[in-house]
Amino acid sequence: MAFYGPIRLVGFSDIPTLYRMILPERGDVYVMCGADILINGLKTDLRAEARCPICGTVTRFHVDNRRIEDLAPKDPALHVVELEQAPGRMSIKCDSTHIFDKKDCLTKWLSNYTGKPGLVISLPEYMDSLNKRPPRKVSPA
Ligand SMILES: [Zn+2]
Repeated sequence: MAFYGPIRLVGFSDIPTLYRMILPERGDVYVMCGADILINGLKTDLRAEARCPICGTVTRFHVDNRRIEDLAPKDPALHVVELEQAPGRMSIKCDSTHIFDKKDCLTKWLSNYTGKPGLVISLPEYMDSLNKRPPRKVSPA
């Protein structure tokens, strides 16, 4: 897990990825996958931009007080694969976890996807589910 400044960020990447967070005091930080943005949002308010892996459209949103705000476009889809490492300890399979600006892109991506089936969920719903778990037990794989 990367340690970057006073807050321990999950999924920090040195190189640009599809997933960018804009943190109030540190500026731009890239993370490995879409779910990492929401996991970091459990600890700090942030702005985020997630680029669709199919069409390149950017989905923008804020996380404020552990809630998703100002989503644009309105209804992106998250495909997330969680792996249970041990009872109560979950990790995210990053190369299977993306934010799609629209359902069509998700459908297109799924038609070529041969990995472990994941959960398809809206960003606010996934944030709610993270809010119900202890954040320390979530880590990227
Ligand atoms: Zn797209």
